[in-house]
Amino acid sequence: GVRELVTEVVVLGAGPGGYTAAFRAADLGKKVVLIERYDTLGGVCLNVGCIPSKALLHTAAILEEVKTLGSMGVTFEPPRIDLDQMRAGKERVVAKLTGGLAAMAKQRQVEVIQGTGRFESPNRLLVEGRRGQVRVLFDQCVIACGSAPMKIPGFPHDDPRVMDSTDALALQEIPQRFLIVGGGIIGLEMASVYSALGAAVDVVEMKDQLMPGADLDLVRALEKVIKKRYREIRLGTKVAQMKATAQGIAVVFEGRAPGEAVYDQVLVAIGRRPNGKLINAEAAGVRVDEHGFIPVDAHMRTNVPNIFAIGDVVGGPMLAHKATHEAKVAAEVIAGLPALFDPLTIPSVAYTDPEVAWMGLTETEAKAQGIAYEKGVFPWAASGRALGIHRDEGLTKLLFDPETKRILGAGIVGPNAGELIGEAVLALEMGADMEDIGLTVHPHPTLNETIGLAAEMAHGSITDLL
Ligand code: FAD
Repeated sequence: GVRELVTEVVVLGAGPGGYTAAFRAADLGKKVVLIERYDTLGGVCLNVGCIPSKALLHTAAILEEVKTLGSMGVTFEPPRIDLDQMRAGKERVVAKLTGGLAAMAKQRQVEVIQGTGRFESPNRLLVEGRRGQVRVLFDQCVIACGSAPMKIPGFPHDDPRVMDSTDALALQEIPQRFLIVGGGIIGLEMASVYSALGAAVDVVEMKDQLMPGADLDLVRALEKVIKKRYREIRLGTKVAQMKATAQGIAVVFEGRAPGEAVYDQVLVAIGRRPNGKLINAEAAGVRVDEHGFIPVDAHMRTNVPNIFAIGDVVGGPMLAHKATHEAKVAAEVIAGLPALFDPLTIPSVAYTDPEVAWMGLTETEAKAQGIAYEKGVFPWAASGRALGIHRDEGLTKLLFDPETKRILGAGIVGPNAGELIGEAVLALEMGADMEDIGLTVHPHPTLNETIGLAAEMAHGSITDLL
């Protein structure tokens, strides 16, 4: 038979959006049920996204960094890599976090139901799990069903040598010849990992630049480093054909860098599509667009008043920090609090080596939209700290409003750019101007000092570099 469960709030999907909404709603006194088809909480981010990728990227960055110590008179033997132990190490990090979430759910008396949920009406979901069926009757619902890797029709995705990001993170083997289709953040992060572990990496990107969305001057600094490490980077080129053969995955390229090549493994990282079409939303009357996104207002409410949606499935940047902030808004609105999702910016970070981070207005956007700006750029070649860590490829760039002198945007490339961009995000949210940033005493010698110096460059209070 079907078990029936009555609750005030149900959350569909336990990724960073879902668990945050569930916990916040519970903290605000609601009775909450959280539905998740997988065995662990945490969604893509904790299980097969942000967290495992960063654990591997840290190892990769160290492997690359030790090579730079030659100039300081220190050399190492080539590293011995035990993939099983590396995988286990990564899995320990993930298990610690997902286990922590399970404990937090319990503590808040959030009832977790394992299974796949589908709407039956605007107040009913049916969950099919290993322990049978559960019908959840709810007053309010938060849809947080996330997204999945996009596939290319006609490509041999069923062949184990053709991987998505989840497969690549599973780290089964290090291929000799490795192709990454898609030069976006996820593709280039995995390129960093596999290259550091010894694979000969090729990257193919349809657009004319790597990491579309980031300014070209930032991307160039990254490119300068990775061009030396990777075998080939084909820009403005698409994969016209991909065939599984006994010798490997045979690929035909078309565009600016045409050609053919055979690979031991291929990672397809061309983007992610939302899971909105997989939850029978029509039974609840929830509008889902043709791509599978669920439109919401600033309160995270769908077209159905008691149903909210958050995270990757509502569109906008598919990022964990966007999902968690939207989650809090949805939970607070449900609890009757006045809340609104209206950030000035959602920062983007590629945890490549070097890292690339940007927030607010980009220079590319400013030019395309005819927005006037003043710019301060501080090249890390003039930073004592950057030289001391053998990383002079970096760049810190700030954009300001020419009238008010307030910060409009920032871009940073270099090690730790992802950590450094936080200051610029706060500056934007606080409406800081050139002088606020330039007159702030940054510690010396730090990479973070380059933000103050970039503001001074824009202000004209320093003109020549050391
Ligand atoms: P998800 O995390 O996708 O969670 C949705 C959950 O819902 C899943 O657990 C799914 O199983 C469950 N679900 C779906 N449908 C149903 C159903 N019908 N019934 C029951 N359960 C269901 N973002 C960052 O901010 N920083 C990063 O460094 C970063 N790195 C990434 C690296 C990789 C390799 C990938 C793939 C992504 C990365 N992301 C990163 C993106 C980030 O993972 C997502 O933006 C984030 O997980 C979205 O959260 P979410 O809650 O919307 O959905």
